[in-house]
Amino acid sequence: MTQAFSFPRINPDRLLDSFTRLAAIGATAGGGVNRPAFSEAHLAARRWFREEIERSGLEFRTDGAGNHSAFLPCSDSSAPTLILGSHLDSVPNGGRFDGALGVVAALEVLKTVRENRISLNVHLEAMDFTDEEGTLVGLLGSAALAGHLRQKDLESPRGGRENLVEGMKRAGLSDESMLSAARPKNSLAGYLELHIEQGKRLERAGVNIGIVTAIVGIASYRLSFIGKADHAGSTTMDDRRDASLGASAFTLAARGLVMRDFPNCVVNVGKMEFAPGAFNIVPAQVDAALEFRSPDEAEFKRLDKALLELAEAEAARFGLELRKEFLGKHSPSLMSETVRSAFAASCDDLGLTHMPLPSGAGHDGQSLADLCPVGMIFVPSVDGASHSPREFTKWEDCVNGANVLLQAALRLGSG
Ligand SMILES: [Zn+2]
Repeated sequence: MTQAFSFPRINPDRLLDSFTRLAAIGATAGGGVNRPAFSEAHLAARRWFREEIERSGLEFRTDGAGNHSAFLPCSDSSAPTLILGSHLDSVPNGGRFDGALGVVAALEVLKTVRENRISLNVHLEAMDFTDEEGTLVGLLGSAALAGHLRQKDLESPRGGRENLVEGMKRAGLSDESMLSAARPKNSLAGYLELHIEQGKRLERAGVNIGIVTAIVGIASYRLSFIGKADHAGSTTMDDRRDASLGASAFTLAARGLVMRDFPNCVVNVGKMEFAPGAFNIVPAQVDAALEFRSPDEAEFKRLDKALLELAEAEAARFGLELRKEFLGKHSPSLMSETVRSAFAASCDDLGLTHMPLPSGAGHDGQSLADLCPVGMIFVPSVDGASHSPREFTKWEDCVNGANVLLQAALRLGSG
């Protein structure tokens, strides 16, 4: 093995300085940040990133989707581009590491490559993707760049059409510009992202770096358990067709099913709406918001079938009807073997421990997975906290992650 000290390293002080200045934009009293897509704080963070790029002497680029990036060309103008990146937007009252770490680390990698005059076979680009978190659409900038974005995605976005139009306007964007941001497939050499884990697996295992195997697929349904409204005092327990019983029994049984038969998956009933909804009326209908996730396509399909069968069985047990409304899904995205190996070799070079693990959260990489080789690494989240001001990753782990990102970019960019 080559001696560890011979590998170029990122500048940890400069990285911390960037990270700290960025975390001050939209900072909340609890130590987090509030930067929903196209909010004033998010626009300020975008301006900060642009200035940071221009101050460093790297080329600033932007596209019709409002993705901002630093560009470091190689000597061959026809070479493909290796993108490193993440996102500067946050969930409302989120943490300072989610997305931000990946963006500042990507920029730091480009600065390091340039100052060490390392010549590569690819252009490098450090990117901030627009609206990753889904305040408006979700994975918006990456879907636009990958050519997956459609007009219909912009017409009824989860954040509301009016908010989207107003937000795009504030950022100088439009439907037309968004739909024109697609890059040609052969123009990309790959996509790498450093992110915090947002779970407890690395911390529990005492491992430095998680190498993502797949980004989970997510499916959602609205399940309506339908019974009959009756007087809650004068109807005997035997005579009731109480919709709440089917919905509750299903929720508990779904947990048991996943824990027993689908250990890599998760299920969530995040909302129940009762109708008519009163103390003294037996519930006639309960609409339950069901979401489930799996890193494996075959397992995903089996889980889908098993959960729907379970809902039918629990509804029947309490004399209820079941209505199922499919609300959408996206399939699991496999990370590239080549990129995973490059990450593993880079960890080994740097003397860092690593383990494979699936990502239970969605990330921009899933938009790009069918366009170019994609890979992600995770660094440990203290106590697994994320999407919260409690989100924290030790600085040493952030630096480790940035160095692995650098090494992997060098490996993939000089191959
Ligand atoms: Zn994120």
